[in-house]
Amino acid sequence: MSDTVETTETDAWVPDEDAGVEDEPKPQELPFGPDFVRGVHTELYRILGAPGSETELQGVAGGEWNLVTQGRASEENVLKAYASVSGFPVLDEDDAGSLDAFPEVTFDYLSNWVAVPISWNEKTTTVAVAQPYSLGLLAYQWRAMFGRDVVFTLARRTFVERLLGTLYDTSFTEEEEFNWQGDNSEQALRDMAREAPIVRLVNDMFNRAVEMESSDIHVEPGEDQLAIRYRIDGVLHTVQTHPISHYPAIASRVKLLGGLNIAEHRLPQDGRIDLRIGTMEMDVRVSTVPTMHGESIVLRLLQKELSHFDFENLGLGADMRGMFEKLVKMPHGMILVVGPTGSGKTTTLYCVMRMLNSDTRKIITIEDPVEYQLPGLTQIQVRSQIGLSFASGLRSIVRQDPDVILVGEIRDRETAEIAIHAALTGHLVLSTLHTNDAAGAISRLLEMGVESFLISSALLCVLSQRLIRKICDECSGTGMQSAGAGERKCRNCGGTGYKGRVGIFELLNLSDDLRRAINDRRDSTEIAAIGRRHGMRTLREDGEEKVKRGVTTPAEIARVCQLDAVIE
Ligand SMILES: [Zn+2]
Repeated sequence: MSDTVETTETDAWVPDEDAGVEDEPKPQELPFGPDFVRGVHTELYRILGAPGSETELQGVAGGEWNLVTQGRASEENVLKAYASVSGFPVLDEDDAGSLDAFPEVTFDYLSNWVAVPISWNEKTTTVAVAQPYSLGLLAYQWRAMFGRDVVFTLARRTFVERLLGTLYDTSFTEEEEFNWQGDNSEQALRDMAREAPIVRLVNDMFNRAVEMESSDIHVEPGEDQLAIRYRIDGVLHTVQTHPISHYPAIASRVKLLGGLNIAEHRLPQDGRIDLRIGTMEMDVRVSTVPTMHGESIVLRLLQKELSHFDFENLGLGADMRGMFEKLVKMPHGMILVVGPTGSGKTTTLYCVMRMLNSDTRKIITIEDPVEYQLPGLTQIQVRSQIGLSFASGLRSIVRQDPDVILVGEIRDRETAEIAIHAALTGHLVLSTLHTNDAAGAISRLLEMGVESFLISSALLCVLSQRLIRKICDECSGTGMQSAGAGERKCRNCGGTGYKGRVGIFELLNLSDDLRRAINDRRDSTEIAAIGRRHGMRTLREDGEEKVKRGVTTPAEIARVCQLDAVIE
C-alpha cells in the first residue's frame, strides 16, 4: 500500500513536538494502473457484502459510479473503498466549514477533475478529490500552473460538487436562473430530473438517510435555501442545505420517482417509491404540499426488512413481556395498545402479528395505511373514498372466519362495538387508541358510548407506550470520540449522544377488581389506582428503571413526559 500522509486542514493545527510529525507533508504515492482499479472494485464489493462480483465492472476506472447512480452503493461506500485501497485520508466535512475560492482557477477546470482546493500555503495546496484516478496528471498540471505541490484528500462527490457550485460557478446570472426556474413545462422538468448530478444527489440523499437510520426525509424550500432534514430516532436534524436554485430539479426527480404529476405544483400529492439500497429494500411514501416557496416534500422510509419486528428489541422488561405474551396467545378477547402518534404502537402490533403468524391461524388486518406487508397475513387497506372504513371493513372481516383481527385504530363507537363483539365471539382482536395512559383507554371507550359491561367482559389488557432514545454505545452519550490527540464528533450518533430507540411501557392487566370498577364506570384515576394495587408500573417508572440500567438519560424521560403534557 502507499505511504499514508496526514494532511492538516486548518492553519490552527500545531504539530505535537514529541509526536514526530513533520511540518511538511511527505510526498504521496499516487495510485495508478489497472491493479489499483481492480483493487477498488474488489474492496467496494466486499463492503457491499457481495465479494466476487467485481467482474461486473470489468475493471473500468470510474465504473463504480454506475452502482451509485443505480442506488446499489452509496457515495460513502465508494469513498471507503478508495480510502482503503489508496491509503489517502478522507476529508472531514465538518472541518471544511467556510472555504475560500482558490484564485485563478476556473470552474470548468475543477469540475472536469471533480476536485476542489481546501487549503493552501506558498508551497502546497490540499485538494479534495471525488475519485483517485490520474492524479499524477492533475498534480503535474497544478505544479505547472501555480508552482505548488498538491496533497490529495478524498471527499464525497456531492460535497465536492456542492462546493464547486457555491465557490466557483459564476455561469448562472440571476436572470438566467430566473428563466431556468420559470421553465416549468413538463418536458423541461423531466429533462432536468434525469441529469446525472441530480440523479446522484437524490440517490445520495436516500443513501445517507438509510446510513443514518432515518425514518423520514424532509425537503423544505425556503426563501433562498433548500434544507434537507432527516428524522433520526424521532428528532429532526438538518443534514444538508442547497442553494434554492437546485430545488426544481430535486423536486422533479423525487416526483418522477414517486409517480407524481411532475407539472402539478398547486395541489398536494401522494405517491410511493420502491427503493433498493445495497441488500436492503425500502418502501418510500412520498407526500407533497404546496408552501410559500414551493412544495414541501416529505419522504417516509419504511423498511421491508422484517427482522426488526422482534419482541426481543421492543424493550419490554422480562416480567411485563412474559405477561403480555401470555395475553396475546389467548384464543379470544381484546388487546389495546395506546399512545400518541409516533410512540411505536404499530411496531409492537407487528411484533405480535409476527409471533402469532402460523399455518394454523388466520390473521386479517384492516389498516390505514398498510405500513408493512407480512407474508401469511391478509391485509386490507382502508379506502374511505369508496366507503371502505374501519367499521365496514371489520364487518366483512368477521365473516371471513379469522382467528386474529388487527384493527389499525379505533376512532368511533361503531368500530369499537364491532371490534368488541368480535372479541366476545371467539376472536382475538388487537387495536390502538390515541390516549395518554392505559387507564385512559377505558374512559375513552366509555366516552365513545360503548357499554361498560361490553368493555369489562371483552378487554384482556391495555398496553401504553412511548419511545425513548438510547444512549450511544460508541461515545457513552458524550457525543464525542477521541481522534488522535484531540476529539471529534461521534460518527455513530452524529454528536447527539443517542442512537436507536426503545419503548417504555405500562401494562394494565384486567383483574376482577378492575372489571367491577369498569362496570361501575369509575374514572381513570381510580382505574389507574386499582391497576397499581395489582402491580402495574407506570410509564415513568419503567423509564426510571431504564435510566438506572444505563439505557437512557433522565433528560430523555423528561423530554418524553413533557411531550405528554402538550398532548393533554
Ligand atoms: Zn455517539
